[in-house]
Amino acid sequence: MKLSALGRIALATGIAVLTTATLPGTPAAAAPVKRKILPVLVEFNDASFQFPDKVKASTPDTYFGAKSDSAASYLSELSRGQYTLVPAVPEQFLGPIKLDLSAAGCPQGKINQLTREELTKRGLVAGKDYESLSIVFPAQKTNCPWAGLATLPGPTTWINLYGTASGIDVVGHELGHNLGFGHQGRVKCTGGNLGACKSGGASHTTIMAGGYRPAGFSAPEMIRAGWLNGGASLKVTKSGVYTLRSLHGKGSGVRALDIALGGDRLVIEYRHAAGNFDAKLEGVHAYRVPKGSYGASSLIDTTTADKTATNSAPPNADAITKLTDKASKLSLAVVSSGGGQAKVKVALNGDSLSAIGATPSKSASPTPSATPTPSASASASTGTEAVTDGSEPVTELGSEELTAGGGRSTVLPLAAGGGAAVLAVGLGFLLVKRRRKRA
Ligand SMILES: [Zn+2]
Repeated sequence: MKLSALGRIALATGIAVLTTATLPGTPAAAAPVKRKILPVLVEFNDASFQFPDKVKASTPDTYFGAKSDSAASYLSELSRGQYTLVPAVPEQFLGPIKLDLSAAGCPQGKINQLTREELTKRGLVAGKDYESLSIVFPAQKTNCPWAGLATLPGPTTWINLYGTASGIDVVGHELGHNLGFGHQGRVKCTGGNLGACKSGGASHTTIMAGGYRPAGFSAPEMIRAGWLNGGASLKVTKSGVYTLRSLHGKGSGVRALDIALGGDRLVIEYRHAAGNFDAKLEGVHAYRVPKGSYGASSLIDTTTADKTATNSAPPNADAITKLTDKASKLSLAVVSSGGGQAKVKVALNGDSLSAIGATPSKSASPTPSATPTPSASASASTGTEAVTDGSEPVTELGSEELTAGGGRSTVLPLAAGGGAAVLAVGLGFLLVKRRRKRA
């Protein structure tokens, strides 16, 4: 394998899939979700795992291990225990199962179909015995242009495995698609004027868009998942000064502000090192949520510098200081930010920012636990990947590094199940990222 081959992450941005059953923002205190996931190792009639014993040994660890970056630990920490993955079978995974199928041509639909048929033969019922299916197969002969693939939202992930273990950068990203998150874009609104924004690449503040494991998920995604209930996400309907604690980490307090922006929403978060997240991310960040589709938000970038997971820009390079939106008569300014807390002044209905006193909001004082993060193992093993509903792959476009490469719309049929659905469609772009190997 080449040492510095170009890995390609195909990103479909702006895909907003909204099921009525999971409308975000409703503060219902749902019971913790224990999602039964079944990892299945499959092989082809012309391709097998090179080191099957190692793959078998790594699989339980990847999905359910005690380490902080197993899929179960990752989602549990992000959701504060509201969403955990549990093994669907006592052995924790199945396989390798030999499929009567050639690896050639990356037949992801057939892989899914034949794997599910095998599970049925073994008496395992989808939706009952297992709720999510993660199909892991050897990459060597598939020529799949991605490292992982997922239904959005939905129950299926595909892992095109090079080597002997998949990492959270791939598995966590794909499970994020299953939760209803698209690839998060970035809009450039230089100077903070929301009336003049241009599309500008990927946000890098979430594992869904180049932020990798250390970024976790962003506030709009956390709202979409229902993990900021119970007052952690505050709907702002009055002008005032509001206090935010860090989005991630333990402790009480408001973790996101959710503000009307015409027919869209504006979500404000404060990022700061906490738990296993955000060691390299700091400051108040803003997102535009189109038509209430919290899984399809874009970072609002008011600066010229861009923070990525791997560049040397300061952690607060994309932090906002002020926003104005004439159309919705909104203005906003960061009063203070740092040390685990931020204060944000919000002026609604044409109110003047200067007329708003420093009346503290009713949020509790933050108590983030800023424990140091383990070394960011950005192995960046994410190859090209795309999103599909399992039958219709999304065609990705463009080739510029970290930029939107075209405006073609893509229709994404919704995965079966889940009631009436609204499907909004956006542009696809291709994120090209240099694959780096850390010594
Ligand atoms: Zn993806």
